[in-house]
This record gives sequence, C-alpha cells and structure tokens, in this order.
Amino acid sequence: MSWEANVRRVVPYTPGEQPKLQDVIKLNTNENPYPPAPGVERILREFDIARMRKYPDPNAQHLVDAIAASYGVKPSQVFVGVGSDDVLSMAFLTFFAGDKPVLFPDVTYSFYDVWADVYRIPYAQLPLTEDLRIDPDDYKRENGGIIFPNPNAPTGVLESLDTIGEIVRANPDSVVIVDEAYIDFGGVSALSLLDEYENLLIVQTFSKSRSMAGVRIGFAIGSEKLIGFMNDVKFSVNSYTMNQLTIECGAAALADPAYFRETTQRICETREWAKQQLTALGFTFPDSRSNFIFARHSTADAGALFAALKARHIFVRYWNKPRIDQYLRITIGTPDEMEALFKALAEILQEMGDRQ
Ligand code: PMP
Repeated sequence: MSWEANVRRVVPYTPGEQPKLQDVIKLNTNENPYPPAPGVERILREFDIARMRKYPDPNAQHLVDAIAASYGVKPSQVFVGVGSDDVLSMAFLTFFAGDKPVLFPDVTYSFYDVWADVYRIPYAQLPLTEDLRIDPDDYKRENGGIIFPNPNAPTGVLESLDTIGEIVRANPDSVVIVDEAYIDFGGVSALSLLDEYENLLIVQTFSKSRSMAGVRIGFAIGSEKLIGFMNDVKFSVNSYTMNQLTIECGAAALADPAYFRETTQRICETREWAKQQLTALGFTFPDSRSNFIFARHSTADAGALFAALKARHIFVRYWNKPRIDQYLRITIGTPDEMEALFKALAEILQEMGDRQ
C-alpha cells in the first residue's frame, strides 16, 4: 500500500496492566494506595457544571500559581501538563531538537526511547554501573541533551545533589532534565540548584505522592527562559491541555501540605518494613528511596514469581528485558496489601522449593 510509506511508525510504550478483575492487589504501576487530599473531594462535589460549556483557562493559571507558591518560584517558572508524561513529551519536543544524541541511562523509564523515536531524536543509552548507579563521568561527552529520573525508575536508586550538580555543570550547552516523579518519598529535590543553572529543568507529578494518577497532572519548574520555550511549543500543539476541573483539583491538593506529608511518610515507613520482609524472604535490592522496590530473589526466577503472584491476583511489574529480567518492581501499598504479598511470596517460594 503506497500510503503506508508516509506513515509515522513507532513502537509504543507499554504501560503497566490495569486489571479488570475485582479483588486484586495492585502493586504494578506505582500508584498511591491512599486517597487524594480531602479538599479534592470538596471541589468535585461543589463544581458548577455550567462551567463545562466554556473552554478552560489555557494557561491553567490557578494551578500554575498554586504550584509556584508551594515550591517558592515565580509562576513564569512553572509549566503544567496532563501528567508528567505530557510534560516530558513537550520537553523532548522543545529541548531535544539538535543533531547530537540525547543521553539517558540504559535501565530507566522506558518512555524516554519511545519519545526519542517518535520525534526522531538521536539518543544513546548509557549503562548504569554494576550496582545500578549513574556515573556522572559518563555524561561528560558530546550530547544534544540529558534526561534521567531521580530516584531512577525502575531501580528506586537516589543520586545525590552533588552528582546532579556535577552533570549539569559539565553540560552548559545542553538542557538537563531531572524527572523527579518519585522525589517525595525521601529524596532531595534538585529545585535548590535552579538559581545556579538556567539549563536545568525539573519535572514532577501529582500521580504518585499526591494520589492523583487518574486525574493527570504533571509540572515542570525551570528558568523563565526554559518555561517560555516550552509554552511556545505547547501553544503550537494544543492550547487547552488541562480541563477546568483538573486545574481546581490540583490546586486543592496543594492546599493541604499536612495530608501530603502524612501519606508520603506512611508510604516511606511501609517501604522500610517491606525491605526487612523481602530480605527475610531471600530477596536483594538496591536501596530504594521511592514508592517501589526493585527486587530479585537469590534462587527463584522472577518471571515465574510474577506469574505465580498474578495467578493469585497480586500484580507486580516485570520486564522480560536484558539486564533486568530477574527483577520484580513492587509498588508499596498499604500495610495490609504488603502483608498479603509477603504471605503469597512465602507460599510460592515454598512450593517452588518443594518442586526442585
Ligand atoms: N516519570 C517516571 C520515571 C515514571 O515512572 C512515570 C510513571 N509511569 C512518569 C514519569 C509519568 O507519570 P505521570 O504521567 O502519571 O505523571
């Protein structure tokens, strides 16, 4: 078919499964097990439906102002989008328009190579070290931009501000994007480096620490210049990315910092307990500072464990990919959900042992 020669062909990103079954324990997409802040429910109850007739504010100013106030930056330093996937996609389109390869780790968020492919951006994937860390020296070569998550996904490993500063300092001719989707679970944000570096962009999300994955809110904070370039591209693609209800729900979530601190703290505590339990079951893992643990078992095959858990309606994430095919990525759920996971793992490991 001749028209097919003109089709933009891509291999799409595969999101984690959203099972249709009832009664599942869902620890596969790093969702937050707690509800959003109570103020969000109030917005939903009181929203005037007549407002749906009109277009939303294309600047999403109410939400932009709330983010700026929360993070101590100017509104002109904030860009918002429909989840951080939308923000990251816009950032790829805006900042990675050169001919040199964009650099990111080999084991990282598996959407980066998909955006690079769809926008035809050249890229190089730099291997993490043996202990799954980013070596800043790897990022001191010619490039058209740099992106990595901190903490990294799916490893959960947090790099220090020193490491991030070293990478940004070595690359004054590139935009460096730090994807902080999981920073609120005990990490230290690179926001404090923004005053020093005009070329540093920090991306965060309401999907994890603010329990709003289904609402779709992400944002970037950077210099006014970077944010201005992103807005130019955004307003060249789609002006009305965020709906009115979402804008208000996001602002309401930010208005309750105490709830945010309490729920993120609870997840960190459950994570530390989960580390002990997994160790007792024979798992090892890099130290996680996120809301998930990337664990491998000393003897049991990860693919077999994944399937056995799934048969018991417990969903974790597994990639049959080189280097990571013996790991399971386990999202931190409620203590009850984690208890059920550990019980199931103990039984499965026993059955597997019996069969050997
Ligand atoms: N960055 C990383 C590292 C992620 O793991 C995710 C979640 N899949 C995202 C960004 C995107 O999250 P969202 O679009 O829900 O903000």
